[in-house]
Amino acid sequence: MPSPSHAVSVLRVAVAAPLGELLDYLPPPGGTVPPGTRVLVPLGRARRVGMVVSAALETTVPTERLKPIAAVIDPAPLLTQADLDFLLWATDYYRADPGEALFGALPVRLRQARALLDERPLGWRAAADVATAADALHRAPRQRELLALLAATPQGLTDAELHARVGNCDGPLRALAARGLIARCRLHAAPLDPVPAPARDAPPPLNEHQAAAVAAVAAGTGFGCFLLDGVTGSGKTEVYLALIERALAAGRQVLVLVPEIGLTPQLQARFARRVPAAMVVLHSALADTERERAWRAAATGAARLLLGTRSAVFTPLPELGLVIVDEEHDLSLKQQEGFRYSARDLAVRRAQQARCPIVLGSATPALETLHNARLGRYRQLCLPERAGGAADPDILVADIRAQPLETGLSHALLTRMDQVLDAGNQVLLFLNRRGFSPVLTCHDCGWISECTRCDARLTVHRGRARLVCHHCGLEQAQPVQCPDCGSPDLRPLGQGTERVEDTLRQRFPGLPLARIDRDSTRRRGELERLLACAQRGEHRILLGTQMLAKGHHLPGVTLVGILDLDHGLYGSDFRATERMAQLLIQVAGRAGRAERAGTVLLQTRHPRHPLLALLLREGYGAFATAALRERLEAGLPPFSHQAMLRADSPEEQAALDFLTEVLAAARPLAPPELEFWGPAPAQMERRAGRIRAQLLLQAPSRALLQRVLALLLPRLRALRRPTQLRWSIDVDPQESL
Ligand code: ADP
Ligand code: ZN
Ligand code: ZN
Repeated sequence: MPSPSHAVSVLRVAVAAPLGELLDYLPPPGGTVPPGTRVLVPLGRARRVGMVVSAALETTVPTERLKPIAAVIDPAPLLTQADLDFLLWATDYYRADPGEALFGALPVRLRQARALLDERPLGWRAAADVATAADALHRAPRQRELLALLAATPQGLTDAELHARVGNCDGPLRALAARGLIARCRLHAAPLDPVPAPARDAPPPLNEHQAAAVAAVAAGTGFGCFLLDGVTGSGKTEVYLALIERALAAGRQVLVLVPEIGLTPQLQARFARRVPAAMVVLHSALADTERERAWRAAATGAARLLLGTRSAVFTPLPELGLVIVDEEHDLSLKQQEGFRYSARDLAVRRAQQARCPIVLGSATPALETLHNARLGRYRQLCLPERAGGAADPDILVADIRAQPLETGLSHALLTRMDQVLDAGNQVLLFLNRRGFSPVLTCHDCGWISECTRCDARLTVHRGRARLVCHHCGLEQAQPVQCPDCGSPDLRPLGQGTERVEDTLRQRFPGLPLARIDRDSTRRRGELERLLACAQRGEHRILLGTQMLAKGHHLPGVTLVGILDLDHGLYGSDFRATERMAQLLIQVAGRAGRAERAGTVLLQTRHPRHPLLALLLREGYGAFATAALRERLEAGLPPFSHQAMLRADSPEEQAALDFLTEVLAAARPLAPPELEFWGPAPAQMERRAGRIRAQLLLQAPSRALLQRVLALLLPRLRALRRPTQLRWSIDVDPQESL
């Protein structure tokens, strides 16, 4: 039942707490506070940081229970009305807690009640004139000289400036300060130091497809969403750069989102070499102060180009004129924890709000993006050929059903490797499983290494002599005897990259080899180093996980061997084949990027899988058409819309019971077209000691799904639940497990 409303002027505040709604407060005694300003508010007995999002003239809170804002943190708003509108739209769409989501979108330092960094440099100003100080200083000529200099420079001088003019003068400065004749103070604002601009590379002349794509985007006015569908190496980045240059020349800011900056250091360097304007980068590896600086530079307009990972989509950019999302199909653009959102989808919304074009680029567009293009919502621009004349790689299939394998390597693959290595070229081997082997077993009693906290097996990491759970991080020493029967005959079963590396080193002794996975690149800068060596051709064999699949140019590679993608063919997630196809094409795209043609050899036990066969025969576009037809027949996204409710608890049954109650609350709110699947145990029911369950909602339209969620969420939040139970909502989930 709606509460009566009371006429009183209040401020709506997004409080950084899991509240699910905005709270109303009275303005502080001094007067009102503009939206976008951080404040401190009383909540229960504590004080919390919050952000004013709007003012209102009525509230449902009884007047006597209204409390005033306790303190104002920012002297001026941090966010504009447009920034707030976008953020609140996002929290509403994804059914997130507005306060948590809004503060999660700010740089870490600003999530707390801390003032913005003071960017003005420290320096000195005169506190007395030379005449009055003449007596005191008549035996101190250096001090007199310094005081005269500072007195003649009323805006003050920084330490660096003083050093430049008079040499080292720390002693005399201290003496002057001790006499109270000069004062330490903050001086004029420092200029932003964006990524420095080295010599610019000249762009190559665009080929006809690239030029047509640039022209199509440039011809539009206002919002427009373009899908740049270009095979790997077709010159998508050159199209981005040409569009960026135009937008910058028109005085606009540009936002470029990429899946993972750490994995593509080359891209960042290429942008820095080519973009003739102040550029900042934003990603999670930055220190907090660096992040805040970059964020501020974007918000004030000092930075003209922002290159960032998914959360950069929330950065204020007052003059935004172009958005680019590279590798738009990549799962890293989806936030999977806390405030769950799709940075790609939000980027489209953002461009719509800013009335500017957005370009989604990929060699393997997501099926939902292709669907949007086919419906005419997005305009598809194709780059069908590799730029610079490189040929497409041939993809061959090695049927390994009845074949003896040498640590996962077929005879066919090894023979090809010999040829390519003899010819002096590079080989890339792809296996998406790190560690030595995915399980350790006892040959005598059948014991297998299992995680005590998850429904999962412990991976053998032989280099470290440890068993590791890849799901919860549990680690233990690798046993020398079976924990059950005491037998010493323990055997690793199956292979990960570490084991394949061992085999390769034995078979190709002395040949330089690099293994590139999360274990071998833990040290900062190691990935860059390995990739740079690989590019120079120093390693003859590259062996890696999906870290190697992303966007790297490896011009000397003429053979790509894909050891195992079969789990993607019959995975339990309906998106498994889509992901398998994307990975296959992305890995294949590393081969033969320069003048040398490349070959890809795929090992599989399912050479006749219809979608795989289609992909290999006719390419990703044909695969996508067929996969979309299957989705249509099954009524799955993008032909329907989903939201996933997940719950977990250390107690058996608690998560399922909670979701059963949610379902009971939800049914009366939903028309029959809305389907509920579950509640059911999660695919991996126990993870990190918690028992997990899920309930899927599926609707024929986004609008219907949103309507039901809007009714359901307040009721769900009001349900009683055990203190240990956690729940979350994921709108447009990318993993339905
Ligand atoms: P993508 O982003 O589609 O993978 P890139 O833009 O990185 O492709 O281009 C692949 C390679 O082709 C790069 O080495 C790039 O310098 C080169 N290239 C791109 N466009 C052209 C062009 N028009 N003429 C010559 N070389 C080009
Ligand atoms: Zn045993
Ligand atoms: Zn575990």
